[in-house]
Amino acid sequence: MKIAIIGVGSVGSAVATAVKNTGLAHEIVLFDRDGVRARAAAEDLGHASAFSYDVKITAVSTYRAIRGSEIVIVAAGANQKSGETRMDLLHKNTAVIEDIIPRVMENVDAKNVKIIIVTNPLDVMVMLAQKLSRLPTNRVIGTGTMLDSARFKIILSRQLDVSARSINSYILGEHGDSSVVNWSAVTIGGIALDDFCKQAKISLPQTTRNTIEHRVRNAAYEIIQGRGATWDGIGAAVADLLHAIVNDEKRILTVSTVDGVGKSAVAMSMPRVVGNKGVTMNLRTKMNTQETNALRKSARIIRKNFDLI
Ligand code: NAD
Repeated sequence: MKIAIIGVGSVGSAVATAVKNTGLAHEIVLFDRDGVRARAAAEDLGHASAFSYDVKITAVSTYRAIRGSEIVIVAAGANQKSGETRMDLLHKNTAVIEDIIPRVMENVDAKNVKIIIVTNPLDVMVMLAQKLSRLPTNRVIGTGTMLDSARFKIILSRQLDVSARSINSYILGEHGDSSVVNWSAVTIGGIALDDFCKQAKISLPQTTRNTIEHRVRNAAYEIIQGRGATWDGIGAAVADLLHAIVNDEKRILTVSTVDGVGKSAVAMSMPRVVGNKGVTMNLRTKMNTQETNALRKSARIIRKNFDLI
């Protein structure tokens, strides 16, 4: 499979490494408006491939060269600087997506291609990319809260002293400050959270839950403060999404796609079934009133920002 990655900065490079390590691509093409950067990344990554899978990795200088790509990953655009929110990138990255998507669409097979959006503000960029590409909504997929859900799982696993792989838990809504922690649907080994805590004699009071929520929502800010940007987590998330698509795993992932029609359409993360046709089912989880209201608020924030562009 040929996969194109547009934007080869910190995130695009980490995504390229993670994609290479899946062994799912026979060819990876890298495009960046900074051609020198793309060529250097392709060279470095090409050397690394001698230690893993045979994969042809090239930097390309025209969109024509992405022809034949079945999956296009968009990781281009401005990233958050310390103190900036993802929504602060709205106008800068609108211009980036407006530049990229029409040129991608001129060179891919619209009947089959899947576009994965990584650029922030994620959900608004998914809506914009879907609008510009005119692809069916289920084939323009944002990584959404995959990373936030992973962060939640890891923090919870430390708190509960149980493997993160035995935890089923979701962050819903915006990949951003209004994301919603779906406490009501958390299960550990199929057991509801409160029941698990009772059996394990663990206390998880509201103050601890608030701290966990804060840590999940602020994880990116803390990483950006410490190392300037985040890249490893999102690289792994894209690789996981790629596995689900290429191997037609029909996994349930909190990805962001456009849901609804007309003025009420919005892209945000909900658990969705993902396979080689893209998203094939949108699911609703168990939510209490507070979570439902928070999710509605999150949807309104995303829609309002989309209407601004
Ligand atoms: P970066 O500055 O390191 O790299 C961005 C790259 O995009 C640069 O190489 C730049 O030349 C390229 N670029 C900009 N405009 C372009 C265009 N029109 N065409 C082609 N290339 C273009 O930034 P980064 O840290 O790699 O972050 C990239 C994006 O990923 C940001 O929007 C960031 O917020 C986002 N991000 C998303 C997640 C997530 O979970 N979805 C996680 C981390 C970062």
